[in-house]
Amino acid sequence: MGGEGKTSKEPTIMDIRVGILTAKDIEWKQGEHSSRPTFILSHVPIGIGFHWGQTQEQEFAGQLDIINNADGTQTAVNTLDIEDYITSVISSEMSADSPIELLKAHAIISRSWAVRAITANRMTGGKIRSAAYESNGHTLFDVCADDHCQRYEGIRLITPRAQQAIEATRGKVLTYNNQVCDTRFYKCCGGKTEVFATCWEDIDVPYLQSVECPYCQRAIQRLKNNDKAIKQCLMNYDQQTVDAHDWNVIYRQDELKDILLEKTGIDFGTIENLIPLRRGQSGRIYELEIVGSRHRQVIGKELKIRRALSRTCLYSSWFDIEKKHNDTGTDFVFQGHGWGHGVGLCQLGAAEMALEGFTYNQILQYYYPDTQIQ
Ligand SMILES: [Zn+2]
Ligand SMILES: [Zn+2]
Repeated sequence: MGGEGKTSKEPTIMDIRVGILTAKDIEWKQGEHSSRPTFILSHVPIGIGFHWGQTQEQEFAGQLDIINNADGTQTAVNTLDIEDYITSVISSEMSADSPIELLKAHAIISRSWAVRAITANRMTGGKIRSAAYESNGHTLFDVCADDHCQRYEGIRLITPRAQQAIEATRGKVLTYNNQVCDTRFYKCCGGKTEVFATCWEDIDVPYLQSVECPYCQRAIQRLKNNDKAIKQCLMNYDQQTVDAHDWNVIYRQDELKDILLEKTGIDFGTIENLIPLRRGQSGRIYELEIVGSRHRQVIGKELKIRRALSRTCLYSSWFDIEKKHNDTGTDFVFQGHGWGHGVGLCQLGAAEMALEGFTYNQILQYYYPDTQIQ
Protein backbone atom coordinates (compact mmCIF):
# COMPACT_ATOMS: atom_id res chain seq x y z
CA MET A 1 0.00 0.00 0.00
CA GLY A 2 1.29 3.45 -0.82
CA GLY A 3 0.16 6.82 0.49
CA GLU A 4 -1.99 6.92 3.55
CA GLY A 5 -3.42 3.45 3.00
CA LYS A 6 -6.85 2.27 3.98
CA THR A 7 -8.33 0.09 6.65
CA SER A 8 -9.58 -3.15 5.18
CA LYS A 9 -12.84 -3.05 7.12
CA GLU A 10 -15.14 -0.01 7.24
CA PRO A 11 -15.68 0.86 10.91
CA THR A 12 -19.22 1.06 12.26
CA ILE A 13 -20.28 3.45 15.02
CA MET A 14 -19.75 0.62 17.53
CA ASP A 15 -16.15 0.17 16.39
CA ILE A 16 -13.32 2.52 17.25
CA ARG A 17 -10.00 2.91 15.44
CA VAL A 18 -7.08 3.42 17.81
CA GLY A 19 -3.67 4.59 16.64
CA ILE A 20 -1.15 2.61 18.70
CA LEU A 21 2.21 3.80 17.38
CA THR A 22 4.07 5.26 14.43
CA ALA A 23 7.57 4.00 13.69
CA LYS A 24 10.00 3.29 10.85
CA ASP A 25 9.19 -0.41 10.59
CA ILE A 26 6.50 -1.83 12.78
CA GLU A 27 7.05 -5.41 13.83
CA TRP A 28 4.19 -7.44 15.13
CA LYS A 29 3.61 -11.05 16.05
CA GLN A 30 0.66 -13.27 16.78
CA GLY A 31 -0.40 -13.27 20.44
CA GLU A 32 -0.57 -16.36 22.57
CA HIS A 33 -4.06 -15.78 23.88
CA SER A 34 -6.09 -18.99 23.97
CA SER A 35 -9.69 -17.78 23.64
CA ARG A 36 -9.34 -15.29 20.77
CA PRO A 37 -6.80 -14.11 18.20
CA THR A 38 -4.53 -11.36 19.44
CA PHE A 39 -1.39 -9.59 18.29
CA ILE A 40 1.66 -8.24 20.10
CA LEU A 41 3.54 -5.01 19.44
CA SER A 42 6.84 -4.22 21.13
CA HIS A 43 8.29 -0.80 21.96
CA VAL A 44 4.93 0.94 22.25
CA PRO A 45 5.61 4.43 23.65
CA ILE A 46 3.49 5.58 26.60
CA GLY A 47 3.51 8.89 28.44
CA ILE A 48 4.98 10.61 25.36
CA GLY A 49 6.54 13.94 26.35
CA PHE A 50 5.75 13.52 30.05
CA HIS A 51 8.04 12.85 32.99
CA TRP A 52 7.08 9.17 33.21
CA GLY A 53 7.49 8.38 29.47
CA GLN A 54 8.64 4.82 28.58
CA THR A 55 8.03 1.96 26.11
CA GLN A 56 6.21 -1.34 26.65
CA GLU A 57 5.34 -4.59 24.91
CA GLN A 58 1.56 -4.72 24.59
CA GLU A 59 -0.98 -7.27 23.37
CA PHE A 60 -4.22 -6.38 21.59
CA ALA A 61 -7.41 -8.03 20.37
CA GLY A 62 -9.36 -6.94 17.30
CA GLN A 63 -8.07 -5.99 13.89
CA LEU A 64 -4.57 -4.68 13.16
CA ASP A 65 -3.89 -2.46 10.17
CA ILE A 66 -0.40 -1.27 9.31
CA ILE A 67 -0.66 1.96 7.36
CA ASN A 68 2.23 3.17 5.19
CA ASN A 69 2.67 6.91 5.59
CA ALA A 70 4.00 9.28 2.94
CA ASP A 71 7.12 10.05 5.02
CA GLY A 72 8.22 6.40 5.03
CA THR A 73 6.98 5.60 8.51
CA GLN A 74 4.23 3.17 9.40
CA THR A 75 1.28 3.51 11.75
CA ALA A 76 -0.33 0.60 13.57
CA VAL A 77 -4.10 1.02 13.92
CA ASN A 78 -6.25 -1.30 16.02
CA THR A 79 -9.96 -1.47 15.15
CA LEU A 80 -12.20 -2.98 17.82
CA ASP A 81 -15.57 -2.83 19.51
CA ILE A 82 -15.96 0.31 21.61
CA GLU A 83 -16.87 -1.66 24.76
CA ASP A 84 -13.69 -3.76 24.42
CA TYR A 85 -11.76 -0.53 23.95
CA ILE A 86 -13.29 0.98 27.11
CA THR A 87 -12.49 -2.19 29.10
CA SER A 88 -8.82 -1.69 28.28
CA VAL A 89 -8.93 2.09 28.83
CA ILE A 90 -10.28 1.83 32.37
CA SER A 91 -7.61 -0.79 33.08
CA SER A 92 -4.90 1.52 31.68
CA GLU A 93 -5.98 4.88 33.09
CA MET A 94 -6.48 3.42 36.55
CA SER A 95 -5.54 -0.03 37.80
CA ALA A 96 -8.11 -2.72 36.99
CA ASP A 97 -7.95 -3.73 40.69
CA SER A 98 -9.53 -0.39 41.71
CA PRO A 99 -12.84 -0.32 43.64
CA ILE A 100 -15.69 -1.24 41.32
CA GLU A 101 -17.45 2.14 41.77
CA LEU A 102 -14.33 3.94 40.51
CA LEU A 103 -14.11 1.63 37.49
CA LYS A 104 -17.81 2.19 36.73
CA ALA A 105 -17.39 5.97 36.94
CA HIS A 106 -14.34 5.79 34.68
CA ALA A 107 -16.12 3.50 32.21
CA ILE A 108 -18.88 6.08 31.79
CA ILE A 109 -16.56 9.04 31.28
CA SER A 110 -14.17 7.14 29.00
CA ARG A 111 -17.10 5.91 26.91
CA SER A 112 -18.63 9.40 26.72
CA TRP A 113 -15.31 10.88 25.71
CA ALA A 114 -14.77 8.20 23.03
CA VAL A 115 -18.26 8.63 21.56
CA ARG A 116 -17.60 12.36 21.18
CA ALA A 117 -14.16 11.76 19.70
CA ILE A 118 -15.52 9.31 17.12
CA THR A 119 -18.36 11.65 16.20
CA ALA A 120 -16.05 14.64 15.94
CA ASN A 121 -13.40 12.93 13.85
CA ARG A 122 -15.81 11.31 11.43
CA MET A 123 -17.76 14.55 11.02
CA THR A 124 -14.71 16.72 10.49
CA GLY A 125 -12.06 14.36 9.09
CA GLY A 126 -9.84 15.38 11.98
CA LYS A 127 -9.46 18.89 10.66
CA ILE A 128 -12.21 21.22 11.77
CA ARG A 129 -12.63 22.48 15.29
CA SER A 130 -16.00 23.61 16.51
CA ALA A 131 -17.34 24.31 19.96
CA ALA A 132 -19.75 21.40 19.79
CA TYR A 133 -17.30 18.84 18.51
CA GLU A 134 -13.68 19.58 18.95
CA SER A 135 -11.62 17.26 16.79
CA ASN A 136 -8.50 15.79 18.39
CA GLY A 137 -6.57 16.32 15.16
CA HIS A 138 -6.10 12.64 14.25
CA THR A 139 -6.79 11.76 10.61
CA LEU A 140 -5.70 8.12 10.27
CA PHE A 141 -7.71 6.92 13.27
CA ASP A 142 -10.30 8.10 15.82
CA VAL A 143 -8.12 8.28 18.93
CA CYS A 144 -4.50 7.66 19.87
CA ALA A 145 -3.51 5.24 22.63
CA ASP A 146 -1.69 7.67 24.89
CA ASP A 147 -2.48 10.49 27.34
CA HIS A 148 -3.19 12.87 24.47
CA CYS A 149 -6.50 11.01 24.08
CA GLN A 150 -6.96 8.20 26.61
CA ARG A 151 -4.48 5.56 27.70
CA TYR A 152 -5.18 2.28 25.92
CA GLU A 153 -2.57 -0.35 26.72
CA GLY A 154 -4.07 -3.56 25.37
CA ILE A 155 -5.60 -6.62 27.01
CA ARG A 156 -2.99 -7.79 29.50
CA LEU A 157 -4.06 -5.35 32.22
CA ILE A 158 -7.74 -6.29 32.13
CA THR A 159 -9.22 -8.01 35.21
CA PRO A 160 -12.63 -9.66 35.83
CA ARG A 161 -13.51 -6.60 37.91
CA ALA A 162 -12.92 -4.28 34.96
CA GLN A 163 -15.15 -6.48 32.81
CA GLN A 164 -17.79 -6.38 35.53
CA ALA A 165 -17.66 -2.55 35.54
CA ILE A 166 -18.19 -2.55 31.77
CA GLU A 167 -21.14 -4.96 32.02
CA ALA A 168 -22.73 -2.81 34.75
CA THR A 169 -22.49 0.36 32.65
CA ARG A 170 -22.69 -1.03 29.10
CA GLY A 171 -23.79 1.69 26.65
CA LYS A 172 -24.20 4.33 29.38
CA VAL A 173 -22.85 7.83 28.82
CA LEU A 174 -22.93 11.10 30.73
CA THR A 175 -25.27 13.71 29.25
CA TYR A 176 -26.26 17.34 29.73
CA ASN A 177 -29.41 18.57 27.94
CA ASN A 178 -29.49 15.20 26.14
CA GLN A 179 -26.04 15.76 24.63
CA VAL A 180 -23.09 13.53 25.38
CA CYS A 181 -20.77 15.38 27.76
CA ASP A 182 -17.19 16.36 27.14
CA THR A 183 -15.93 14.32 30.09
CA ARG A 184 -12.44 15.67 30.67
CA PHE A 185 -10.29 14.13 33.37
CA TYR A 186 -6.70 14.17 34.66
CA LYS A 187 -4.66 12.78 37.56
CA CYS A 188 -4.89 15.22 40.46
CA CYS A 189 -6.59 18.63 40.75
CA GLY A 190 -4.48 19.82 43.71
CA GLY A 191 -7.46 20.95 45.81
CA LYS A 192 -9.75 22.68 43.32
CA THR A 193 -10.88 21.80 39.80
CA GLU A 194 -10.64 24.22 36.86
CA VAL A 195 -13.07 25.63 34.27
CA PHE A 196 -12.89 24.72 30.58
CA ALA A 197 -11.89 28.17 29.30
CA THR A 198 -8.63 28.22 31.28
CA CYS A 199 -7.32 25.43 29.08
CA TRP A 200 -9.20 25.54 25.78
CA GLU A 201 -11.66 27.80 23.90
CA ASP A 202 -13.33 30.72 25.65
CA ILE A 203 -16.64 28.96 26.14
CA ASP A 204 -18.59 28.22 29.28
CA VAL A 205 -19.29 24.51 29.62
CA PRO A 206 -22.02 24.33 32.30
CA TYR A 207 -20.98 20.98 33.76
CA LEU A 208 -17.23 21.75 33.76
CA GLN A 209 -17.19 24.20 36.65
CA SER A 210 -14.66 24.67 39.41
CA VAL A 211 -15.37 22.59 42.53
CA GLU A 212 -13.44 22.21 45.77
CA CYS A 213 -11.85 18.75 45.96
CA PRO A 214 -10.56 17.69 49.35
CA TYR A 215 -10.27 14.07 48.19
CA CYS A 216 -7.04 13.98 46.18
CA GLN A 217 -5.05 15.29 49.13
CA ARG A 218 -6.36 12.41 51.23
CA ALA A 219 -5.45 10.00 48.41
CA ILE A 220 -1.89 11.36 48.34
CA GLN A 221 -1.67 11.01 52.12
CA ARG A 222 -2.63 7.34 51.71
CA LEU A 223 0.07 6.93 49.05
CA LYS A 224 2.67 8.45 51.36
CA ASN A 225 1.53 6.07 54.11
CA ASN A 226 2.03 3.17 51.70
CA ASP A 227 -1.69 2.35 51.92
CA LYS A 228 -2.54 -0.78 49.90
CA ALA A 229 -6.06 0.33 48.98
CA ILE A 230 -4.90 3.42 47.06
CA LYS A 231 -2.01 1.55 45.44
CA GLN A 232 -4.54 -0.86 43.97
CA CYS A 233 -6.15 2.10 42.18
CA LEU A 234 -3.01 3.28 40.39
CA MET A 235 -0.56 2.04 37.81
CA ASN A 236 2.98 1.60 39.10
CA TYR A 237 4.30 4.65 37.30
CA ASP A 238 1.51 6.81 38.73
CA GLN A 239 2.17 5.61 42.28
CA GLN A 240 5.64 7.14 42.07
CA THR A 241 4.29 10.66 41.62
CA VAL A 242 3.62 11.30 45.32
CA ASP A 243 4.14 15.03 44.89
CA ALA A 244 1.17 15.36 42.50
CA HIS A 245 -0.84 17.50 44.94
CA ASP A 246 1.93 19.85 46.09
CA TRP A 247 5.17 20.05 44.16
CA ASN A 248 8.09 22.33 43.59
CA VAL A 249 10.63 22.85 40.87
CA ILE A 250 13.75 25.00 41.08
CA TYR A 251 15.61 26.38 38.06
CA ARG A 252 18.80 28.35 37.94
CA GLN A 253 18.37 31.54 35.90
CA ASP A 254 20.52 30.32 32.98
CA GLU A 255 18.82 26.92 33.01
CA LEU A 256 15.40 28.58 32.67
CA LYS A 257 16.68 30.64 29.74
CA ASP A 258 17.90 27.45 28.00
CA ILE A 259 14.61 25.62 28.58
CA LEU A 260 12.57 28.51 27.21
CA LEU A 261 14.82 28.73 24.16
CA GLU A 262 14.54 24.99 23.57
CA LYS A 263 10.79 24.80 24.08
CA THR A 264 9.56 28.07 22.50
CA GLY A 265 12.37 28.80 20.03
CA ILE A 266 12.59 32.32 21.49
CA ASP A 267 15.80 33.79 22.87
CA PHE A 268 14.54 35.83 25.83
CA GLY A 269 18.05 36.69 27.03
CA THR A 270 18.50 36.59 30.80
CA ILE A 271 15.17 35.75 32.39
CA GLU A 272 14.32 38.62 34.70
CA ASN A 273 10.79 37.80 35.73
CA LEU A 274 7.80 35.53 35.24
CA ILE A 275 4.53 37.35 35.87
CA PRO A 276 1.20 35.51 36.12
CA LEU A 277 -1.34 37.81 34.43
CA ARG A 278 -4.48 35.70 34.55
CA ARG A 279 -5.49 32.74 36.60
CA GLY A 280 -8.49 30.42 36.33
CA GLN A 281 -10.73 29.59 39.26
CA SER A 282 -8.46 26.91 40.70
CA GLY A 283 -5.41 29.15 40.46
CA ARG A 284 -4.09 27.70 37.20
CA ILE A 285 -2.31 30.37 35.18
CA TYR A 286 -3.51 30.84 31.61
CA GLU A 287 -1.60 34.02 30.77
CA LEU A 288 1.99 34.29 31.86
CA GLU A 289 4.34 37.10 30.95
CA ILE A 290 7.96 36.13 30.47
CA VAL A 291 10.30 39.08 30.93
CA GLY A 292 13.80 38.63 29.54
CA SER A 293 16.67 41.05 28.91
CA ARG A 294 16.13 40.71 25.13
CA HIS A 295 12.48 39.94 24.77
CA ARG A 296 9.23 39.89 26.67
CA GLN A 297 6.15 37.94 25.72
CA VAL A 298 2.85 36.68 27.10
CA ILE A 299 2.23 32.95 26.68
CA GLY A 300 -0.85 30.77 27.27
CA LYS A 301 -3.03 28.94 27.76
CA GLU A 302 -2.52 26.22 30.34
CA LEU A 303 -0.68 23.51 28.35
CA LYS A 304 1.56 25.97 26.47
CA ILE A 305 2.74 27.35 29.81
CA ARG A 306 3.42 23.85 31.17
CA ARG A 307 5.33 22.84 28.04
CA ALA A 308 7.38 26.07 27.84
CA LEU A 309 8.62 25.87 31.42
CA SER A 310 9.90 22.30 31.52
CA ARG A 311 12.03 19.96 29.41
CA THR A 312 9.09 17.55 29.61
CA CYS A 313 5.94 19.20 30.93
CA LEU A 314 5.25 20.92 34.28
CA TYR A 315 2.74 19.00 36.39
CA SER A 316 0.29 21.90 36.11
CA SER A 317 0.07 25.65 35.50
CA TRP A 318 -1.08 26.29 39.09
CA PHE A 319 2.03 27.68 40.73
CA ASP A 320 3.60 30.65 42.45
CA ILE A 321 7.05 31.83 41.46
CA GLU A 322 9.67 33.18 43.78
CA LYS A 323 13.01 34.62 42.77
CA LYS A 324 15.76 33.71 45.21
CA HIS A 325 19.21 35.23 45.16
CA ASN A 326 22.12 33.28 46.61
CA ASP A 327 25.92 33.15 46.40
CA THR A 328 25.97 31.35 43.05
CA GLY A 329 23.30 33.41 41.30
CA THR A 330 19.52 33.58 41.04
CA ASP A 331 17.05 30.71 41.28
CA PHE A 332 13.41 30.60 40.22
CA VAL A 333 11.39 28.53 42.67
CA PHE A 334 8.01 27.20 41.49
CA GLN A 335 5.59 26.05 44.15
CA GLY A 336 2.74 24.25 42.47
CA HIS A 337 -0.40 22.21 42.96
CA GLY A 338 -1.99 19.40 40.99
CA TRP A 339 -1.05 17.16 38.08
CA GLY A 340 -2.95 17.84 34.87
CA HIS A 341 -5.30 20.50 33.50
CA GLY A 342 -7.77 20.19 36.37
CA VAL A 343 -10.94 20.26 34.23
CA GLY A 344 -13.59 17.66 35.06
CA LEU A 345 -12.88 14.51 37.06
CA CYS A 346 -9.88 14.32 39.39
CA GLN A 347 -8.76 10.68 39.14
CA LEU A 348 -7.02 10.60 42.51
CA GLY A 349 -9.99 12.36 44.10
CA ALA A 350 -12.42 9.92 42.49
CA ALA A 351 -10.32 6.98 43.72
CA GLU A 352 -10.46 8.37 47.25
CA MET A 353 -14.23 8.90 46.99
CA ALA A 354 -14.70 5.27 45.91
CA LEU A 355 -12.53 4.11 48.83
CA GLU A 356 -14.67 6.22 51.18
CA GLY A 357 -17.83 4.49 49.96
CA PHE A 358 -19.29 6.90 47.38
CA THR A 359 -21.12 5.34 44.41
CA TYR A 360 -20.19 5.99 40.78
CA ASN A 361 -23.27 8.22 40.49
CA GLN A 362 -22.15 10.37 43.40
CA ILE A 363 -18.60 10.58 42.04
CA LEU A 364 -19.81 11.72 38.61
CA GLN A 365 -22.27 14.23 40.12
CA TYR A 366 -19.45 15.69 42.19
CA TYR A 367 -17.08 16.41 39.32
CA TYR A 368 -19.69 17.00 36.57
CA PRO A 369 -22.54 18.81 38.35
CA ASP A 370 -26.10 18.68 36.90
CA THR A 371 -25.37 15.90 34.43
CA GLN A 372 -27.36 12.71 33.82
CA ILE A 373 -26.43 9.11 33.05
CA GLN A 374 -28.28 7.87 29.96
ZN1 LIG B 1 -4.69 11.59 20.67
ZN1 LIG C 1 -8.75 16.57 43.41
